[in-house]
Amino acid sequence: MTADTISSATGIITIDLGALVANWRALTNVVAPARCGAVVKADAYGLGADRVIPALVSAGCTTLFIATPDEARAARRFAPEATIFALDGLLAGSGEALIVTNTIPVLSSLPEVIEWSALAAKRGERLAAALHVDSGLNRLGLDAREVQALAADGDTLARLDVKLVMSHLACADDPADPKNAEQRAAFDKMRAQLPSAPASLAASDGLMLGPDFHYDLARPGYALYGGQAFKGGPTPVQPVVRVEGRILQVRDVAPGETVGYSATWVAQRKSRIAVVATGYADGFFRTGSHPGAHPGAVVSIGGTTAPLVGRISMDLITVDVTGMVPAPERGDLVTLVGPGISIEALGNRAGTIGYEVLTNLSRRFARVYVGENSA
Ligand SMILES: *Cc1c(COP(=O)(O)O)cnc(C)c1O
Repeated sequence: MTADTISSATGIITIDLGALVANWRALTNVVAPARCGAVVKADAYGLGADRVIPALVSAGCTTLFIATPDEARAARRFAPEATIFALDGLLAGSGEALIVTNTIPVLSSLPEVIEWSALAAKRGERLAAALHVDSGLNRLGLDAREVQALAADGDTLARLDVKLVMSHLACADDPADPKNAEQRAAFDKMRAQLPSAPASLAASDGLMLGPDFHYDLARPGYALYGGQAFKGGPTPVQPVVRVEGRILQVRDVAPGETVGYSATWVAQRKSRIAVVATGYADGFFRTGSHPGAHPGAVVSIGGTTAPLVGRISMDLITVDVTGMVPAPERGDLVTLVGPGISIEALGNRAGTIGYEVLTNLSRRFARVYVGENSA
């Protein structure tokens, strides 16, 4: 990223790889002696798998989780030696694609297990696999009946080299939810019927629930990127992302005038409105408009918070900067995510979650990576 590209960028997303690595180390300490992997699906939650994966690998992370075969190809390029698990498992007929990239499918139904095992038979070798059991989320995972059927099918199992048995929690963000313990008990019961293998139950929030949930391997994603969705108290991670948008102009709006589509905001006083080159096409959720059904997004300019006014449009937002000192000017950057505005808070203000903000935000922003050698 050259100085020229930065000065002509309408928005900039700054990703602190030092903070990312520090977060992985902090989570590693939380789960020790269990190991800590990293979930880098969806292009490392939108932050760039090409930079995030090498940074994590240099820090000592050896186990990565992606979702799709395409993501597996990319991840393998950036991490030639890592153990890579594909959370979407084996898509029908796509086994060879996983084998080529030495990716281990997370098998989540009996048909998947049988297809992978048959491919192993055809190749005359055992194939590495993770088994995903459903402990109560009812999304992916073998159910109790399937686990029983598989446990009784020695031939199918014999062709698999089971590297991991895992499950996923529904309510891990709330430590008071009884479903956490229920899922743990269900997981233990299913695990006991399967070949003994390392186990994994916890993602970002689950690993905060205590050692009972750590098993052999934790698999955080969101927390690595600075996300804090856990309701049980502070987690040991720091922000990784700063997002800034550029002011295209600042204009006067007379009392009674309206701003933006559908004229939803009416100036009650003589107002100064900064027009910023960020909109929903940049991943800045239109549901963060003000007034609207949700609290509405705010930005920060030189440490001062200013509210959005009117509708968020495709490429632009409008911000009330009336009376702000020093007066914001054309060309200045405003902070959309950064000190005082977490991804989580922005999500809440737009009626969604930080995860969705994070995985959408980077579309049109210039990306700047910092902190690579500070780790
Ligand atoms: C995405 C995902 C994770 C990571 O979850 P975070 O909440 O981002 O830490 C872990 N396990 C599974 C099965 C997932 O789909």
